[in-house]
Amino acid sequence: MNTSIPDIKRRVRLALTLALAASTFALPAAESRWWKGNLHTHTLWSDGDDYPEMVVGWYKDHGYHFLSLSDHNRLQEGEYWINATNNRGGPAALERYLARHGTQWVERRTHQDQPQVRLKTLAEFRALFEEPGRFLLIQGEEISDHFEKRPLHLNATNLRDLIPPQGGKTAAEVLQNNINAVLDQRRRTGQPMIPHINHPNFGWALTAEDMVELKGERFFEVYNGHPGVRNYGDATHAGTERIWDILLTRRLAELRLDPIWGTAVDDAHAYHSFNPKASNPGRGWIMVRAPELSAAALIAAMERGDFYASTGVELTEVRRGPRELGLEIKAEPGVTYLTRFIGTRKGYNPASEPVLADGRPVVTTRRYSPEIGTVLAEVRGATPRYQLKGDEIYVRATVVSSKLKSNPFAVGDYETAWVQPLVPE
Ligand SMILES: [Zn+2]
Ligand SMILES: [Zn+2]
Repeated sequence: MNTSIPDIKRRVRLALTLALAASTFALPAAESRWWKGNLHTHTLWSDGDDYPEMVVGWYKDHGYHFLSLSDHNRLQEGEYWINATNNRGGPAALERYLARHGTQWVERRTHQDQPQVRLKTLAEFRALFEEPGRFLLIQGEEISDHFEKRPLHLNATNLRDLIPPQGGKTAAEVLQNNINAVLDQRRRTGQPMIPHINHPNFGWALTAEDMVELKGERFFEVYNGHPGVRNYGDATHAGTERIWDILLTRRLAELRLDPIWGTAVDDAHAYHSFNPKASNPGRGWIMVRAPELSAAALIAAMERGDFYASTGVELTEVRRGPRELGLEIKAEPGVTYLTRFIGTRKGYNPASEPVLADGRPVVTTRRYSPEIGTVLAEVRGATPRYQLKGDEIYVRATVVSSKLKSNPFAVGDYETAWVQPLVPE
C-alpha cells in the first residue's frame, strides 16, 4: 500500500480531531452552583418609587445574581415619559438617579410646561448591568387580575410578550386562565417561562381550595416581603405555610397533580426609606442550583425543585432523596439553627370544614386535620437530616435561625429558609 506523507498527516489530524471530539463529549457537565435572585420587584414603570436602573443597581450591589423586574400589567418597553418630580419617587429619586447615571444617560424634556423623564426600557438598560456568570436580568410581569374585589396576582418570569389579565368566573378560573396564557406563550415561542402565584393572603384573596386543582402551576410565594400581604394569616385565615401543606397533601395524595414549590420574593416598591412598614428590597429571595446563570438553566432547575427560599439562612447542600432529606447549613458563628421536617403521612384524615363567622362560612382556606403538614422531626445543628419512614406523602423542611432578620417583614422574624418538598417515588 502506498501511503503518502500528506495522507498520514491527514489521518493523524483526523484521529486527533475524533479523539478531541470524544473527550469533549465525555466532559462532565458544568458544575452546578447556587445563584441568588429575586423574581418579584417593582419600579416607576408601575407603582415602585424608583427608576429601574436604580432598582437593578440596588440588587447587583447587594450580591444578587439575577433579578426580574415585575411591574403590574406592563413590561419595561415602549416610549414612556413620566413627570420628573410628581411621581412616587419625587425630586429625591431624580436627584439620586442623576447622581448615579449622569445627565448624559438620564433623558429629560419639558412637555406642556411640565418637566418629564423618559423611563428607560429593559432593552436599553440591561447592558449597563449584565455580566456573564455574575448578573442576569430576566424579563417579568406581575399579571394583576382580580375576581370580584379579590386581587389575584401572578408573576410571569422570562415571558416574551405582555400578557393582559385574562379574567374568569371564579378565583380558580382567573388563576388558571392566566397560567394558561403563560404556558401558551411558552409553547408558541419555545422560550422557557414560568408563572407563579403571588401573595395568596394579600386582601385575603386566595384559599388553598382556589389553588389546589390548578394545572401547570408549580410555584407560589410562601414568603413575600411586602408588609401588607399577611404571610402568617390570622385566627380565621390560614398562613401561607399551612396553605402549602394543604396544597401538597391534596394535590399529591388525592388529585395526583404535581407538587407546588415555594418561593420567597421581595415584592419591593420602596427604595428610599427602610423600615418594616415599607416594602423594601432585601427581605426574601431564592437560591437556585444551576450549571450556569441563564434564564433557561434557572427555570429548568426551579422546575425540578432544585432551589430553596430564604430570608437569610444559607444552605450549602440540599439532598432531596431518594430516602432522605438532608441539609448542610452555612452556619454563622454564634447563631443556632432549628430545622423542622414537615409532611403528611399516608392514612391522614382528609376531612375539612368551613371556617364560620356568625354561623356563615368565611371566604378562607377550610380547616383540615393537624395530620396534614405535621412536624415529623425537629433537629438542631448545621447538618439536619430526615430519614423517610416509608409512609410520607412528602417531606419538606423549614430552617429557622436564632438570628433576627434585619428590616423584617414582621418585627421579631428570625432568618429562615424553606426547602422544597421531597416527594418519594
Ligand atoms: Zn401583587
Ligand atoms: Zn408585586
